[in-house]
Amino acid sequence: MTLWRQRRGPGTALAGLVLCILIQTGHAADTGKITDPGSFLAQTENLRVKDHRQFAQRLVQIHRESPPLTTAEQWQLQYLDALEVSLEGNFGAANKPLRDVIDRSGDPTLAAKASVVLLTNLAGSHRYEDAFKLAQQLATDLPQIHDRTTRFQVLSGLSQMLNLAGQTDLAIQYARMMEDTVPAGVSLCDPHYKRVAALYNAKKLTSSSPDLKQAIDTCDAAQQPIYATAARLILITLHLEDHQPAKALTLLDRVAPSILKNHYYPHTLSALVHRAQAYEEMGRDDDARKAALTAVALARPGEINDWQKNAYEVLYRIAKRRGNMASALSYYEQYVTQDKGAIDDAAAQALAYQTVEQQVLAHKLETEALGKQNSVLRLQQALDTKAVETSRLYIALLLMALASIVLWLYRLKRSQLGFKRLSHHDSLTGIFNHQHFISEAERVLRLLQKKLGHACLVSIDLDHFKQVNDTHGHAMGDAVLKRAVAICQQHLRPTDLFGRLGGEEFGILLHECSREQGMDIANRIRITIGTTPMEEDGDGISISASVGLASTDSSGYELQRLCKEADAALYRAKRAGRNRVIADTEKDNLVEA
Ligand code: GH3
Ligand code: MG
Ligand code: MG
Repeated sequence: MTLWRQRRGPGTALAGLVLCILIQTGHAADTGKITDPGSFLAQTENLRVKDHRQFAQRLVQIHRESPPLTTAEQWQLQYLDALEVSLEGNFGAANKPLRDVIDRSGDPTLAAKASVVLLTNLAGSHRYEDAFKLAQQLATDLPQIHDRTTRFQVLSGLSQMLNLAGQTDLAIQYARMMEDTVPAGVSLCDPHYKRVAALYNAKKLTSSSPDLKQAIDTCDAAQQPIYATAARLILITLHLEDHQPAKALTLLDRVAPSILKNHYYPHTLSALVHRAQAYEEMGRDDDARKAALTAVALARPGEINDWQKNAYEVLYRIAKRRGNMASALSYYEQYVTQDKGAIDDAAAQALAYQTVEQQVLAHKLETEALGKQNSVLRLQQALDTKAVETSRLYIALLLMALASIVLWLYRLKRSQLGFKRLSHHDSLTGIFNHQHFISEAERVLRLLQKKLGHACLVSIDLDHFKQVNDTHGHAMGDAVLKRAVAICQQHLRPTDLFGRLGGEEFGILLHECSREQGMDIANRIRITIGTTPMEEDGDGISISASVGLASTDSSGYELQRLCKEADAALYRAKRAGRNRVIADTEKDNLVEA
């Protein structure tokens, strides 16, 4: 354990104290053959806080007997093995199996326990950035850690790491949280010590602080000698700062047996350095030099910390006082190396903390930004969808409106056409009514006049029609009218005009037609009407028609005159005995039978 965050002088061994609770000594118990590996492992884990030697022995035993283990038990054993390797100070070898447990065991409680051990290991190997990253992860996972013992260990690890990073207020907060989470049968020693360590680091602790006395008393009562000694070492440092070397020495003598018994390296080292400083202050340079030399002799290769720095400082000052300038220079150089190393280490810790904090902040901002971006995108998509829906709706509405307009226009046109048809056609027979026949005939006659074409105006009147109505009824009269019209249409061309001029009177304008052709058509019509009886209940209703014809050749293109001539010819046909055709050129004496 080579990690001490100590800027004010010797006294605290912050890192490693998580492990303090793991390495208290006890008596080795004789264990029989392993029958239930699950409970054997659980008991072994419990021993880590009470009896480290027995803990290690039981691990050796389970590997020797290698009983069949479930997957969960295999992970637990891997964790306990890694813990033991960590306790031996071999951080590099422990980190990979610990990472494995964290990432792959699938057991959140075991993963949290492994994380706490890894946290201490990383800090112990000066891998501060990794350590703070892991601490950050543990703090995030804390709400999911429900096992009280594990939660307590996690909080302890977090308090220690934050103290290491100089975040003393947060370290105190975590220590308070530990007090609220203390598992059954566990004392308040650890949280009290963590608070004192943070207060000391924050320079808020004096030798008479009740917090310090409380921590020492709690840890004594709980028989946790390492924590009790660590708290007393803080008090010794404060006595030295107060220039009370005698008080410091008294206390050092008091903790000496405990330190000797535990062989806890950080405490052995710091006690020696404190002793050197106290002796120096009291003017006992020989004793001071002896203690300081013992301290630097204990140093492991490449070890850099405040304790070594302070030891070299004492040695330098004594050598200088004694005029031993060569030794003084050498000690001074060592002192500077240690000081620089310790400053660098402290700077590295602070920098690592800041880096991780910045990364977390950046990640948070990024997540928030992404979140915002996503919601903007979602909003955009929603708007796009909405816009598409809206435009679809508009299109549908427009199409519906368009369809309605088209339908409306169609109906309008149809009704217009219907009206037009009604206004131009005779309702019973469907041919032109009188008025439309006249206007159409005038138009056609004007055209024909321009090109000097020929036309015949034919006037037809059914004979004795009144009798049909009287004999067979009005409906039969209507039917006879329709049939007469149908017969006429059979003999007409599409260019000819055909209209009903009155009750049973019809007019035909034969287009591009000479008188002879007209006479021929008129006669065929007359004959067909006369020879096509109307069937009614087996009785044929026969009618005849009288026809008058006027030709443009003789009567000109004026409709009025043509009508007059045709009517006159019709009148003559009636007079001549009906059922005949008379032309305008035929006068009274020319009668066709
Ligand atoms: P004439 O041979 O001299 O033409 O004798 P007529 O009976 O045909 O002539 P008149 O003018 O005396 O009678 C025409 C009749 O036609 C009178 C009317 O009742 C009938 N009539 C007119 N319009 C219609 C109609 O739309 N339907 C029916 N069924 N009869 C009609
Ligand atoms: Mg008639
Ligand atoms: Mg008539």
